[in-house]
Amino acid sequence: MSTQHAAGRYAPSPSGDLHVGNLRTALLAWLFARTTGRRFLIRMEDLDRAVAGADARQLADLASLGMDWETPVVYQTQRRDIYGRIIDRLRKGGRTFECYCTRREILEAPSAPHAPQGAYPGTCRNLTDAERAEKIATGRPPAIRILADTTEFTVTDLLHGTFTGMVDDFVIQRNDGTPAYNLAVVVDDAAQGVDQVVRGDDLLSSAPRQAYLATLLGETTPTYAHVPMVLNTDGVRLSKRDGAVTLADLAADGVPATTVLSHIARSLDLADPGETVDLPTLASRFDPDALPREPWLLGPTEWSS
Ligand code: GLU
Repeated sequence: MSTQHAAGRYAPSPSGDLHVGNLRTALLAWLFARTTGRRFLIRMEDLDRAVAGADARQLADLASLGMDWETPVVYQTQRRDIYGRIIDRLRKGGRTFECYCTRREILEAPSAPHAPQGAYPGTCRNLTDAERAEKIATGRPPAIRILADTTEFTVTDLLHGTFTGMVDDFVIQRNDGTPAYNLAVVVDDAAQGVDQVVRGDDLLSSAPRQAYLATLLGETTPTYAHVPMVLNTDGVRLSKRDGAVTLADLAADGVPATTVLSHIARSLDLADPGETVDLPTLASRFDPDALPREPWLLGPTEWSS
């Protein structure tokens, strides 16, 4: 892929307002893309959990921190036909199987010998015709799983180095017909020329499955940078329950977006305490190798300093 088409992206789920942790990840994605001459794209991952109006508020918040991106913003709900075609292609190529298992059956099934913890136990992989007929007769619609021919895959991550993780027969279409996140993300990154994926390190363990799927589809795997998360002072991933953590809530408490940006920059060792910064300045200071590798612990007293 030529650098001209190379792109980074931020792919929020429009399920509510972005919190400081999301904004920090978005800023890092922007910095990684823009300091390497890439286009920067935004993709709304709205296949589920979408809340009306949240997308527009998320975009406004990103813009208020100074971020810019190529238009149009892509919405996954407008791409269902494309996911359907890819799922069909995999199915026709013999790369999938239908899975009738409930969540509970999966949890209760004995795991296959040597299978890693949490891997799909393989229940529906080799059903006999009679067993399949019995499952169909229950009336429960099947999910579609990938027929994985490996149990692990290795990706390269700018912060984590070489990372090898589990690949199992993961779901590519849920049993309500919705394309699964792991499928949509791979299809979209490839279609959009995304060759650099920057996101929270809670998704590091998903990267091997996604890279494996990209390879099955004949696509190049992107370079990853899984960045540290923002945690509350209990060490738990920041969430709306942690009080004023969105730009709207912080503004209501008298903390403007410029202050939020300054604190995020400080947490990344890109600014001095209290220094007002803009994105070009942060880009000029940005060095992936010097990024803090620890989570940012954010407490309510953060904004009083
Ligand atoms: N939509 C996912 C999220 O908001 C991110 C997916 C990705 O960056 O690959 O957690």
